[in-house]
Amino acid sequence: MPAIEQPHLLRRIWQILTEPSAAITDSQQRRNARLLAIVLVCVIPMMIWGGLTARTGNDTGRDWISQSYLIASIALILTYGLSRTVYYRFGAALCIVAVSAILLAQANVLGTTDPARIAYALMWFVAMVLAGTIFLSVWLSISLMAIFLAIILAIGLIYPEVAYADTQFAFIYVLVMSTAWIAVAAQRQRDMRMIEVQARELAEGEDRYRTLFEASFEPLFIHEKGVIVDANPALLEALGYTYSEIIGQSMLSLAPQEVHATIKQKASSGQNQVYEAMGLRKDGTTFEAEIHSKDMMYQGKLIRVVAFRDLTERKRAEAKRLQVNIEGERSKLLRQFVSNASHDLRTPLTTMTTSVYLLRKTAGDPERMPRYLEKLEGQIDHLTKLLDDLFVMARLDDAARYMERGPVDINALMGDIMQEQTPNAEAKGQTIQYDGGADLPVIQADNSELHRAITRIVNNAITYTPEGGKITLSAHRDNQCVSISVQDTGIGIHADELPHIFDRFYRADPSRRPEMGGVGLGLAIAKKIIEMHGGVIEVESTPDVGSIFRVRLPLVVQSTA
Ligand code: ADP
Repeated sequence: MPAIEQPHLLRRIWQILTEPSAAITDSQQRRNARLLAIVLVCVIPMMIWGGLTARTGNDTGRDWISQSYLIASIALILTYGLSRTVYYRFGAALCIVAVSAILLAQANVLGTTDPARIAYALMWFVAMVLAGTIFLSVWLSISLMAIFLAIILAIGLIYPEVAYADTQFAFIYVLVMSTAWIAVAAQRQRDMRMIEVQARELAEGEDRYRTLFEASFEPLFIHEKGVIVDANPALLEALGYTYSEIIGQSMLSLAPQEVHATIKQKASSGQNQVYEAMGLRKDGTTFEAEIHSKDMMYQGKLIRVVAFRDLTERKRAEAKRLQVNIEGERSKLLRQFVSNASHDLRTPLTTMTTSVYLLRKTAGDPERMPRYLEKLEGQIDHLTKLLDDLFVMARLDDAARYMERGPVDINALMGDIMQEQTPNAEAKGQTIQYDGGADLPVIQADNSELHRAITRIVNNAITYTPEGGKITLSAHRDNQCVSISVQDTGIGIHADELPHIFDRFYRADPSRRPEMGGVGLGLAIAKKIIEMHGGVIEVESTPDVGSIFRVRLPLVVQSTA
């Protein structure tokens, strides 16, 4: 604790001499009592000095004038005594009456020797009363001024030997001084009243602010240049501090180290800010917080008000809502899937049942039997393919558990696919070729999944390209990606079908495609695998001209599973 500074000795004496009585509580009255004490502390020594030195000029030793000064001094000392009590107003009145009476007597004595000097004596008189305007109302001061002016004018009537010219200076002096003094006093009183009103409004405003601040459910604190100067109970409760613990702390102590830079930057912006950052409780636990902050002027100082809302509950509720949505989406997908899959399973089963029935009926007929057996085998093939694809799809939906990444040489991968697919293409009289890039980098990927994806695309190219067509595979580096394309000269895809071909179970118009196409999962599987590698798949196609599928895989692969 820094030592409380002791005031200077002279200042201390001045304080003791002028400090109003503790019993006066009203601030305006205390100010007036202090002013009266100050006036008296200044005037009393002057009066005493006047008493010790003033002479009429004729007599030797102390004459009446100096005695009257001394009497006035005693009256002022008594007044001073009263100014130290709650009766300071009486003191002020007594002071004016006593000093005025004495000065009047002086004026009278002087008047007997030189009547013109009465007016000058009255100037003192006026000065005394004007000092009273500090405590008197403006109207009372104006009335007194009028009386003194009348008295000065009356001197000429009482003492015929005094001409107006003799008292003119005193008249003008009283008029000008009084007017100026009263105007200043009136202005001062008005200012005081305004200050009083403003102070009251400020106090009320502060009371209101305090009540709101205290009652707010929102955790709030105020900082001045980063140092916490106020905090409300909601904040103390949220962070686990007591009021005295938090006041004077740096606001950065309410947040973990990693967000300090952000908080400092936002706080120094001087603008209203709303942002999310981590908060730090007293027990060291952190939480997600939403921070609203703005600059304000408060008691003449620039401060920043900060609302520090704990988002833990809100985030939890949001996560729950998201979870519910995901569950809803999943169950919708499942329903869709079951309906599609059951249709795809039922069709071949119906064909198989018919084939078995016909086989039974035609048992022993060497001509028809192979036809039905072939149909049966075809459907078994189709069903096996469908179940395989369903299995792959289901596995890919939980890909994170199955993905096995490792270095994959794209040229080698494409070479394998070419080797496997060339016989299929040749069986249809198609030509197939691969243009590999020489500078192809090795990427991190799941080799067998990538193999599956590209194979599906190449398979489709062969399936949907008539005999004698051409299939061209290529791969090259494209900035930070590897681009693989599969181009065919097949039947192409209609523009209105293009947006759907990657959907599960989507198959183009049966009238346009070969009788035994796939099960409608090939491209969905390929797309899923490419996306799992952080890549994209795109297609361009012109009906009856051909299609080109482009796969772009990033060199630095991020898992999206
Ligand atoms: P499918 O098992 O029917 O081939 P896919 O998901 O692999 O299912 O393809 C969806 C649809 O996209 C296909 O039914 C076909 O109509 C169309 N398609 C795919 N690849 C090509 C291609 N290379 N040329 C023309 N159409 C294609």
